[in-house]
Amino acid sequence: MLLSRKDYWMMKFDILTVFPDLFTAILGESIIGRAQENGLISVNAVNIRSFSRDKHKKTDDYPYGGGNGMVMLAQPIYDAYMSIVGSLDYKPRVIYMSPQGKKLDQSLVEELSQYEHLILLCGHYEGVDERVLEEIVDEEISIGDYVLTGGELPAMVLIDAVCRTIPGVLSNENSYSEESHCGGLLEYPQYTRPVEFNSRKVPDVLMSGHHANIKKWRRQQSLLRTLRKRPDLLEKFALEPEDRSLLSEAVKKI
Ligand code: SAM
Repeated sequence: MLLSRKDYWMMKFDILTVFPDLFTAILGESIIGRAQENGLISVNAVNIRSFSRDKHKKTDDYPYGGGNGMVMLAQPIYDAYMSIVGSLDYKPRVIYMSPQGKKLDQSLVEELSQYEHLILLCGHYEGVDERVLEEIVDEEISIGDYVLTGGELPAMVLIDAVCRTIPGVLSNENSYSEESHCGGLLEYPQYTRPVEFNSRKVPDVLMSGHHANIKKWRRQQSLLRTLRKRPDLLEKFALEPEDRSLLSEAVKKI
């Protein structure tokens, strides 16, 4: 579980990429940007191109055996990797962002948040020379069963999801633990001002100030939403007797 993380270390992310500027633009802002400023995480994009030995700084070549597209060269990736790990006395976890990998979900996110240092390799074109993958990669992770043009967006998705689980990154830890997928259910509906919008009112219970009733209502809504939107999640969820009665009460009201 998230808060069982015993020590508070700065979690390091090194990204091996041919587009390092994308990371500064996206991860430098908002919650993840603040987490970096507060020293909770560090995000460092290493430009694979800087390690090319080719005079045109090429990082890819034609595939052996023919076929479409280009394949990323092993050597610049390996040298970029060595520039990070060469001086370390431990081996960081190395992840290749790949549509062939294990699908990212909240339990994998929480597992990854236990590592102190992750290196994420972003592929492009037709992919990466298999030999460098065999040499450095511990795990392949996919963000879904579809193919993107590069591993940068998947790496950002992974970093964002992992960072939110790190204590101190979100202003209120409860905001993480009550969110969709954290306890196996989807989150209850949220409302803010005004009390009435286009004739739709905020549920009375939320303005009652009665904490126990609010808690009960939220749990019931959470169960109901999961049943409606993601019945597959509810099937896997171990319903307590209290949850069962809350759910049947809610279903009867529909
Ligand atoms: N030819 C590869 C294949 O069929 O498995 C796909 C290569 S894809 C066009 C280029 C790069 O985008 C991959 O090397 C990977 O880093 C990244 N990528 C694409 N889809 C991804 C996904 N669903 N999850 C994670 N990374 C992905």
